[in-house]
Amino acid sequence: MKILIIGNGARESAIAVKLKGDNRITKMYFAQGNATTDQLGQNVYEESVEGLRDFAIKERIDLTIVGPEAPLVEGIVDEFKKHGLKIFGPRKRTAELEGSKAFSKKFMQTNNIKTAKAVVFDAYQDAIDYVREQQFPIVIKASGLAGGKGVVIAENLMEAESTIHQFMIERIYGDAGIQLVIEEYLKGFEASIIAFSNGKKLFPCIPVKDYKKVGNGDTGPNTGGMGSVAPSPEFTAEHFQDFEENIMKPTLAGLEAANIQFKGFIFFGLMVTNNGTFLLEYNMRMGDPETQVILALMENELFDVITDCLEGRDINLKFKDEKAVCLVMCSGGYPRKIETGFEIRNIEKVKESQVLFAGAKTSGTRIVTSGGRVLSLVATGATYEEARKKVYDDAKIISFDYEIYREDIGKF
Ligand code: ATP
Repeated sequence: MKILIIGNGARESAIAVKLKGDNRITKMYFAQGNATTDQLGQNVYEESVEGLRDFAIKERIDLTIVGPEAPLVEGIVDEFKKHGLKIFGPRKRTAELEGSKAFSKKFMQTNNIKTAKAVVFDAYQDAIDYVREQQFPIVIKASGLAGGKGVVIAENLMEAESTIHQFMIERIYGDAGIQLVIEEYLKGFEASIIAFSNGKKLFPCIPVKDYKKVGNGDTGPNTGGMGSVAPSPEFTAEHFQDFEENIMKPTLAGLEAANIQFKGFIFFGLMVTNNGTFLLEYNMRMGDPETQVILALMENELFDVITDCLEGRDINLKFKDEKAVCLVMCSGGYPRKIETGFEIRNIEKVKESQVLFAGAKTSGTRIVTSGGRVLSLVATGATYEEARKKVYDDAKIISFDYEIYREDIGKF
């Protein structure tokens, strides 16, 4: 069995590590991969949907797993299916649930999914007139993909007006800002739930807490994710029931009503307030760094659950009764300007955690930094404290110039 995994983050490294021991898999290819995947299979320097399709045909790939959102929104699943290639993920139309916040908000509203009140705008002046009547803070979102930067929490009217101008007139995120979603600000804590879909039902994994801000105590700018913990210690059984009844079930009903039968992952970005659990967004893929902690605790063979979902069979997800902590080590300056090319030292001395590379590549006999988020350290334990101690002990062992990481991941 030959597998192709698309993406180059620590999420894809975690998928690779999870699949590694499965003796049905004879070879893994990664497009474009990183220093971890380089050791577990073959990195392929192909990026375009057509290039990947031709590669999968030529190498007779049996299964393709897609990590990031961009190829899904471009329609990689439609293209692969057209050529009879097996691939796990939603078609282009379904990926719009992530690719267009306007589309996904309308889907939530039509299907009575518990979400923040919001209005979609196509015209600049209408958006300006609207915010002049609102209370603050208010949340302004560019509808299209903006690499996690297209969401601004405006504290006052001046900030709201200048954000609308930047998105719609200056087009700082290009076409992503042609449409805006302006929504009510929700105060609470966030949680992520990723579910597998077999085309008929959704099978949720354990809830995860992720850490988006760069600084300790949730300070500084947003990032791709500085760490994660599973299961989320804040998300109770009661929150889960609220999620199931008011978000997951109506989502499934909405997919059925729209005649959408996708087989892949669906990620629910949630905000829990005093009024219960609200859906902020869908992602149509696994999250990073959520994947790292989910797979560290998952007892099932990943290959089995994906194959069962693809064939429309029900799955029974099982997770270890332990805690998992993921700490992301980054290049100094991240998420702003960074320098790369620094050697990552003492990797072989790490004992307690998994080292999953992301922005790191092989250079001769060394591994050097090549991106903002350099690597994830992942460990499990009977308690958060035990898992946390392992990753932090190992973070002290690993070293590269100008490294940064948060000190408070998994500290409760
Ligand atoms: P990402 O790329 O991180 O998944 P995104 O750009 O797709 O994010 P959202 O998840 O919708 O956009 O929003 C990003 C972040 O903005 C959320 O994680 C949350 O912290 C904040 N946010 C979004 N909507 C709201 C809201 N209605 N109230 C309060 N905070 C919000």
